[in-house]
Amino acid sequence: MADKIKVALNGYGTIGKRVADAVMRQDDMTLVGIAKTKPDYEAYVAAKKGYPIYAVDPGKAESKFKAAGLSIAGSNKEMIKKADIIVDCAPEGIGEENKKLYEELKKPAIFQGGEEHEVAGTSFNAAANYNEAIGKQFVRVVSCNTTGLCRLLYAVDKAVGVKKARVILIRRGGDPNDIKRGPMNAIVPDPIHLPSHHGPDVQTVLHNLPIVTSAVKVPTTLMHMHFVNMTLNKAVSRDEILGAIRQWPRMWLIPSWMNIKSTADVIEFGRELGRPRNDMMENAIWEESVTMDGDELNLFQGIHQESDVVPENVDCIRAMTGIEKDNMKSMAKTNKTLNIGVVSPWKCSP
Ligand code: NAD
Repeated sequence: MADKIKVALNGYGTIGKRVADAVMRQDDMTLVGIAKTKPDYEAYVAAKKGYPIYAVDPGKAESKFKAAGLSIAGSNKEMIKKADIIVDCAPEGIGEENKKLYEELKKPAIFQGGEEHEVAGTSFNAAANYNEAIGKQFVRVVSCNTTGLCRLLYAVDKAVGVKKARVILIRRGGDPNDIKRGPMNAIVPDPIHLPSHHGPDVQTVLHNLPIVTSAVKVPTTLMHMHFVNMTLNKAVSRDEILGAIRQWPRMWLIPSWMNIKSTADVIEFGRELGRPRNDMMENAIWEESVTMDGDELNLFQGIHQESDVVPENVDCIRAMTGIEKDNMKSMAKTNKTLNIGVVSPWKCSP
């Protein structure tokens, strides 16, 4: 095998720590290190895992890391210099600031969905537009909601053709550890103006797909829920749609016999499966909800906001570095290493 791709994680929170673990599971990648702003329990676990920790601002952070008994390997600038590619998982808007550093050091970088499309110029979903990322210096992996929508819309559009999609997104209020956003006791139209930004965001990947979206935030932390309505190019059978979805392991059709009634059950299933952090990286589509009415398709899908973008980041690394030019091969490798595909033949640990 060719040399392994050296990956650095700049920003190690909800998304960054998951991408770091996913990179560690790839036989064609190595983890140069992770960058933290300060010591905390996530830094402690990273150290326990043996990940080299670099400080975002060593002048400020060095003594704090020392006091916590955690050693740092250097500055994040030094980490970036050692890497072939950086996955930037800093908070929304900070990626854009970090871009100056990547430009200065002439390093390719992946940004996350909190950044505007223009920060990278190319937005990415592994199934839909892998080729657009090949050889690029900057690419953005789209947000959790947009990733879930791109997977589904691409699959149905490829199989049957989508004339127009209309989506209502019921968004989680915050992540489970995100106390600053709660508690709240309200349903928040977010954004209040219609349509929401999610439709144009999907179009950064599926350029010609007509889509309108609206979104509300609700007091839950587990997952998002989408109600998706599509007018298709022709009337097809429900079985044809189910068949199109089944071809993609990153979408999981929940059978009714599993008695999964809510997002809470989906996450509980992740716990039962013994998945790391209960992650459900697949779109969780309720099979019973998949309904055809003439040329109209309706369904519900749950999106695990903390993890669905993780395999997309792994594939984006392969695309940008050109180590794998075939998206299906990259996705298959990522799916296998991350146990993606709930109904695929893999084992639950006893
Ligand atoms: P987070 O707040 O959980 O983690 C961000 C980490 O980056 C923190 O540890 C923070 O200390 C660190 N950081 C702060 N300033 C930094 C800097 N200058 N350089 C490097 N690191 C810095 O955030 P998150 O939820 O993981 O989100 C990261 C990105 O992923 C955002 O663009 C977000 O929109 C996107 N995203 C988040 C979710 C989600 O549900 N959490 C889903 C998909 C995409």
